[in-house]
Order: sequence, then C-alpha cells, then structure tokens
Amino acid sequence: AGQSAPALAAPPPRITVPAFFVPLCERALLHADPNRFGLMYRLLWRLVHEPALRNDPLDPDRLRAESMARAVRRDMHKMTAFVRFRPIAAAATGTNATATVVAPTAEPEVQHIAWFEPEHHIVRATAPFFARRFAQMRWAILTPEGSVRWDGSALAFGPGAAREDAPPADADEALWLVYYRSIFNPARLKLAMMQKEMPKRYWKNLPEAVLIAPLAAAAAQRTAAMIDVGDAAGGGTVPAHRRPAASLAMRVSQRAPEPMRVSQRAAEPMRVSQRQPEPAAPGSLDALRRATERCRECPIGAHATQAVNGEGAARARLMLVGEQPGDQEDLRGRPFVGPAGQLLDRALVQLGWPRDALFLTNAVRHFKFELRGQRRIHKTPAQLEQAACLHWLESEVAIVKPEAVVALGATAARALLGRAVAVTKERGQWLTRPDGLRVLVTLHPSALLRLGDAARDAAYAEWLRDLDLASAWGRR
Ligand code: URA
Repeated sequence: AGQSAPALAAPPPRITVPAFFVPLCERALLHADPNRFGLMYRLLWRLVHEPALRNDPLDPDRLRAESMARAVRRDMHKMTAFVRFRPIAAAATGTNATATVVAPTAEPEVQHIAWFEPEHHIVRATAPFFARRFAQMRWAILTPEGSVRWDGSALAFGPGAAREDAPPADADEALWLVYYRSIFNPARLKLAMMQKEMPKRYWKNLPEAVLIAPLAAAAAQRTAAMIDVGDAAGGGTVPAHRRPAASLAMRVSQRAPEPMRVSQRAAEPMRVSQRQPEPAAPGSLDALRRATERCRECPIGAHATQAVNGEGAARARLMLVGEQPGDQEDLRGRPFVGPAGQLLDRALVQLGWPRDALFLTNAVRHFKFELRGQRRIHKTPAQLEQAACLHWLESEVAIVKPEAVVALGATAARALLGRAVAVTKERGQWLTRPDGLRVLVTLHPSALLRLGDAARDAAYAEWLRDLDLASAWGRR
C-alpha cells in the first residue's frame, strides 16, 4: 500500500511555450496533412528543449507549421465566402436531408442547407461564424467529413454527408442567378483576380459559377455594345420629356426591387458590336453619356425624363458622388442643381473648391420617384437597381481617374466601397478601396435639409469639417 499512488498522482509537468505557439497549433492542427500531429509535437518538444528556436522564425519546422496554418485560415475564409444555403421545402425537413446530419429533434427544423467541400478540417472552427451571421435562420452545412446544424440557439455537430443530401437548385437559386447576371459588370472583369479570390475548385458548388464562363466570354462585347448603342444613335439626343401617368408611376414604386424585370433584361442575348470587336475601354464621357440615355437595365430609366450623368472637369482630382438625380436634376439633365445641390454649392464656396474643378456625379443615373398628387417624391433606389447602375459610375471613375472621391450618403458609399456603410459611424475618415482609390464618406446634403433649423447649423459645420479633409484635392 502507498507504493504506486505518488507516481500516479503526480501532476503533469508544466511547460512554457512562446505566445505564438498556441494559436499556431490551433490552426495548423486543422490541416489535412496526416503528419500534422507529428510536426506539431516535434515543434513543441523542440521549443521546450531548444530555447534558441523561439527566436528562429526561419526554422523549417516553424515555417512548415506557419504555412499549414495559413492554408487553414485561407480555407476558413473561403468557407465563409462560398457557402451557399439553399432553402428546403417544409416537407423535406426532418427527413433524409436533415436526419442524416444530426439526431432529429421535434423542434426546430432546418430551413436551409448548404453543401461545401473544405480542403482542411475546418467545419467546427468556422461554424461559429455562420451562427453569428445567420443567427435568425435554422440551417445546416453538410460536408463530406462532418456536418453542423444551427437551431437558433446552439450548434450541433454530426457525421459527414453526401452531396445528394443537400437540396438541388430551386427557384430562389434561379433568382440569385439572374441577380448575379444583372450586377455583373463587364467593364470591371478581371479574370485572374477573380480566380485568385474564387479558386476554380469551389465553382462546382457555387450557383453563380455556371455564369462565369459565358459572362466572361461576352464581357468585352457587352461593354462595347453598351457604348456602341449610344454611338449608333448619333448622340446628342434631345430627351423626350415625359412624365409617367400616375397609375404607372405608383405601380413602379410599389413593385420595388423587381428582380425579374432587371434580370429578364440582363439575360437577353447580348448585342455584339460589329464596329468595335476589341475589348472596349469605357471610352469617353460623351460616349458614356449617350449609352446611359438608353440604359434600361433596371426599371427606373423607363420613367425618368432623362439619364443624368456626371459633369465637371474631365481630369478632376476630386469626384463627389451623390445618390441619384432629384426632381430638378431629372428635368435639367444635370447633377446637383436642386435644393441639395444649392446647399452643396454653398459648402463648395466656403471650402474654396471651384465647382468646375471637380467632377460631380451620382451612384444611380435616373430619378426614382413616386407620385403624390402632382408631386414627384424621391424614392431611394432598391439595391438591385443600384447594383445594375454601378458600372456607369465605375466607368466614370475609370475615365476621370480622380485621386480621391467623396461619397455623399449611404448609397454612394455602398456603390463605391461595395458594402453597406453606416455613414454616421464611418464618416470623416479616409477609406481605401482595393484598387487604391481613397474614399471619404460623409452625409448627403439632403440629410442636412431634412433637419430642423436648430440642429442644422451644427450638422452643417460638422459636414464642412468632414469635407475639408478632401481640400487637398478640391482646391485647384
Ligand atoms: N441628390 C443627389 O444625390 N444627386 C443629385 O444630383 C441631386 C440630389
């Protein structure tokens, strides 16, 4: 008695490792390489017994572990970007598709399933991202190695599944495809960059990937065709000043995002220019102006008086982007000439920015409104409409090549930065786009006009302070 106890009860030895080791281990051990445990154990042993290793970032074991951790992080990132949930019919819930995933419970049912094929063992590590992001949905992600389900409050992990367990393409997916087609901007296509971000191995599970090859093939012709249609019309067209009948305008506004109309148009066979077979740069601002006049890629254009393009110095160092033309702009065919424009003009004078040295434009080309009696009341363009219009703005950016851009309001900020922007949080600071262009976000002048007298003065002063950050480019 008493002989064996001390040895068994001895606490495990405590070892100290440098701070980099634990997070490195957490990621590298998720790598698909079957030698990962051996490698990390060797590294641990060496860190304990070879103190110099801590300061040798070029050691081959450390380099290998770092590279494995990087591959895992990349795979996790791809999973967050490329998982596509598909809704499942209520009848299918709890049957085949979900029962194989996790033990069925009475409640709640899975409503969306995604199929994904990760390269590494990342499902558990990535699942919390989806729980946060899609907290309100009941979903499951199936992979060959394991599955995860979110019931609205907890994650449950289960065995692997087969691709057939996930639902096939359905009507929603068709909608998603036409949406993707409609926002696809031929003038911005960069295939190498696209494949770097979206490697081909993920394409087979991405609904939109079926469109990449045909859209890419037609991209050059589509840009050329857009420009050509404008050129062929002879340019300088006098807009037909039309005000839609009340009933029609109301119908338009109630139908809001209208994805099918956007998509049907975008899905039409692309007109291929005979005259300009080479890939088209957006060309000149004039060509762009003529092309936009005929733009019907979303429903707004059909009801506006005319397209309103940017104006100002063709080589302006600073571009100001608003949301869409207002009532006055729609009638006069020029940006920022109505009440918001007058407030902007006042600010430009105070800042010492000559208007004709700038380039003023909008995220959306046409005026969207609803009729109240005889009055045309501004309506914010739907996201699909903004997306359909984006290539015109980007073409202006490509032609004018400003050194800096001011986004006036949330619509402009979303268009320029490609994501939702909380203007009040992100105003007054320079943000940089992946292409290097600086973007300063601030309020739209209309937001100031909506304030009561008491609040307006202080808000205006703060707005001027934001804008002043761009003075290095705004002054001649
Ligand atoms: N509001 C805008 O966003 N742009 C204009 O051109 C006019 C008002």
